[in-house]
Amino acid sequence: MRLSEVFASIQGEGMLLGVPSLFIRTTGCNLRCVWCDTPYTSWLPEGEEWSQERILEWVEGFPQVRHVVITGGEPMLLPALGALTRAIHAAGRHITIETAGTVEQAVECDLMSISPKLSNSAPVGTAEFGMHESGRWRPEVLRRLMRGYEYQLKFVVQEASDLAEIEGVIRELEAPAERVVLMPEGTRAEVLAERSVWLAEACKERGYRFSPRLHVLLYGDRRGV
Ligand code: SF4
Repeated sequence: MRLSEVFASIQGEGMLLGVPSLFIRTTGCNLRCVWCDTPYTSWLPEGEEWSQERILEWVEGFPQVRHVVITGGEPMLLPALGALTRAIHAAGRHITIETAGTVEQAVECDLMSISPKLSNSAPVGTAEFGMHESGRWRPEVLRRLMRGYEYQLKFVVQEASDLAEIEGVIRELEAPAERVVLMPEGTRAEVLAERSVWLAEACKERGYRFSPRLHVLLYGDRRGV
């Protein structure tokens, strides 16, 4: 299977914030978010072939790290994902899958981290606009993932005006507030700091969880962290 990178770090977002984790990043995505922070998995996908055995060997090199995060790109596009999750589970690890919730397949997963993409993700003025917009909102897929797994709904917020759209999504999906995580969009600490102030207030008012982007704050906008 084609991966863009693997690395050991801490989970920088969401309910498992701060938990030491092994990241397996697949390459390839069916969306083209304008602010995508991993364009090497979407706009210009790159990577190398890894066998399942090689991935498991790499995971087993970190006996002290129980959590494995399969991210992308869009990992649900990976044909071998189901088999990989079964093998990682059999090795006794906790699995988080980070997905935009637009495609699905049968997997084993302890936390389905679903990040529905808002209209702020649209690559306006590019040739990919049509593909992105026709694919980014799949409520039937989101509902199945929410029914089938322990989950969080994680939203990337750019402007205060995104909040109304998020509330509409949450209403439509009938998601309880405690499953909702909001985090600021941004790859620079000063942008994240400014957006975090009003976003944390919005979370307090609505009962949502606020998440920083801890990896960006700790390590900056770099790959493999
Ligand atoms: S879904 Fe994720 S990987 Fe794909 S383009 Fe959007 S941000 Fe990038």
